[in-house]
Amino acid sequence: MHEFAIAQSLVEAASAEAQRAGARRVIALHCRIGVLRQVNDVLLREAFVIARAGTRCEASELRIDKTYMRANCQPCNHEFAIRDWDWTCPHCGAECGGLSGGDELELISIEAEVDDEYSGVEEHLSA
Ligand SMILES: [Zn+2]
Repeated sequence: MHEFAIAQSLVEAASAEAQRAGARRVIALHCRIGVLRQVNDVLLREAFVIARAGTRCEASELRIDKTYMRANCQPCNHEFAIRDWDWTCPHCGAECGGLSGGDELELISIEAEVDDEYSGVEEHLSA
């Protein structure tokens, strides 16, 4: 179940970052996941609840940003997101290639509580 491994690495990265920042409690994890990762959000959230138990992330919220593949249209130079495997340029109707993105898997930031203050810390997780 690869959602569990992802949840666990998110919790580990956020906990390590919170510890480094001297934060007692992580309030939220903000991550970016590309559609090519084929992560099931429902399973990921369930796995996250299990993975965060007993860590600094115990009461934290998981925010997921979905990212899509992007195509760059050669004829009109229009860049757009591929949704539902539709490769047609919405601008000129050409079939497109030149893909990038959609395979992101990273923890963008965490919100953590340092004493009575809230501070945002940036942490990147390599996939
Ligand atoms: Zn086009």
